[in-house]
Amino acid sequence: MMDRATQLKNHLTATDYAIRTAEANAARERQSVRLLAVSKTKPAADIKTLYALGQKSFGENYVQEAAEKINELKEFDIEWHFIGRIQSNKTKQIATTFDWVHTVDRKKIANRLNEASHGKPLNILIQVNVDLAETKSGVDPTELTDLAEYIWNLPNLKLRGLMSIPDPKSDDQLRQSHRQLKILFDNLKRDHPAPKIFDTLSMGMTHDLELAVSQGSTMVRIGTALFGARAPKE
Ligand SMILES: *Cc1c(COP(=O)(O)O)cnc(C)c1O
Repeated sequence: MMDRATQLKNHLTATDYAIRTAEANAARERQSVRLLAVSKTKPAADIKTLYALGQKSFGENYVQEAAEKINELKEFDIEWHFIGRIQSNKTKQIATTFDWVHTVDRKKIANRLNEASHGKPLNILIQVNVDLAETKSGVDPTELTDLAEYIWNLPNLKLRGLMSIPDPKSDDQLRQSHRQLKILFDNLKRDHPAPKIFDTLSMGMTHDLELAVSQGSTMVRIGTALFGARAPKE
């Protein structure tokens, strides 16, 4: 039986290889895609192991669970990303514990994050509902420009780009969704040359990593391929 540290090391190597291969296949620049390790439901010990192997960015979905791990790992120079649904009563805690928030989809939340975050500017991605899916999170693409302009005017937030969580479906439909997000990203960048950096397209998970990279992702959010399957959430 392989020990946990060896297993994590092998998974990290394989995931890194998959990203570099996808970059090459898409004629993308090497290292143009970052790996965000999605550690929800996984113990702080696993995060420590990956950190020691050079992985510095981790994503979490649940505020309470994340707060415990972040506190336990506070000596480490980890970049923490919040990728879960945002409840408005948690905005203060999110703004003060995380470095990035991927799931901003309305002005009220942006405003609350802005008010709660002083000192370090908080990196923000707007979650877009590219499929207009039943899952109600994500801004409707027709309201994206308005929300982006609103966030660009908030002094404590740094709007870095867009994010999506497409519905599970066929590769063709997924490719369409990813392509649509890339077009929205490029259009925003072109029409609204911000003084700030707008450089991040967070799309692609374990099952669609390669597809997402082929469509322009700059950050893939990988849980299962790194840590193994998660127990189903109650
Ligand atoms: C859990 C989660 C991931 C990771 O998914 P895997 O399929 O395990 O790679 C990525 N993004 C979000 C928003 C998630 O909630």
